[in-house]
Amino acid sequence: MATAALHYAAAAASDRGRKRANNQDAFGFSIEHGIYVVCDGMGGAAGGEIASSIAVDEVLQVLTARDPSAPIPKVAEDAVCTANNAVYARSQRNANLSGMGTTLVALVVEQSTVWVFNVGDSRCYRLRNGKLEQLTLDHSLVEEQVRLGRMSKHEAQRSPLRNVITRAVGTQNCVTPDCFQFEAQPGDLFLLCSDGLTRELPDAEIQERLGGDDPLQERTDRLVEAANKAGGRDNITCIVVQARV
Ligand code: MG
Repeated sequence: MATAALHYAAAAASDRGRKRANNQDAFGFSIEHGIYVVCDGMGGAAGGEIASSIAVDEVLQVLTARDPSAPIPKVAEDAVCTANNAVYARSQRNANLSGMGTTLVALVVEQSTVWVFNVGDSRCYRLRNGKLEQLTLDHSLVEEQVRLGRMSKHEAQRSPLRNVITRAVGTQNCVTPDCFQFEAQPGDLFLLCSDGLTRELPDAEIQERLGGDDPLQERTDRLVEAANKAGGRDNITCIVVQARV
């Protein structure tokens, strides 16, 4: 059975949170080109903000300018590599920016096919028929221990090492993203977010607040508001993308 053509609608929100002096998260998207990106920068006084905004710009640029016949996983790798080189080069030129880097999670849609690629602990989830599922795997020390069966989820959430990420864009001269491919169904909702959301809200609460029939922007704002109410200890960024017939 042929599926009806899908189109996509999106909403986004980013907030400094209640504890941090500035917002080092960055996001960007092009509904026309089917590209959505969230980055969470780290390092130095201004470094995090610079790293995340460079990475968003570079990834958007490489993906919007892509050859339509090029396979997306290859383009995604090129885009992350370009972003990595731009952040790394900038950090090498300025001692104040040394060591800066960023996480990255991105979604690319072409009709009903969806690709997700990520570096670090920013995540992509899918809400389908009211059920939330995490599509990405965190590149973080504790999550890798959980996957190896050496640590429980509960221990991971409380570990003093929970902030340590094992892959970042811009901290070394090369990085490779994970890339996943999915088939979207009408009504599927994809959430890209920084850890300022997922550290404050359990998945069950994200699922509940993301569901329903309210406009996408309202649901997105509600998530950010809930993370702030839960503590707002970090910057919070969400992009919500919905597949529609
Ligand atoms: Mg963060």
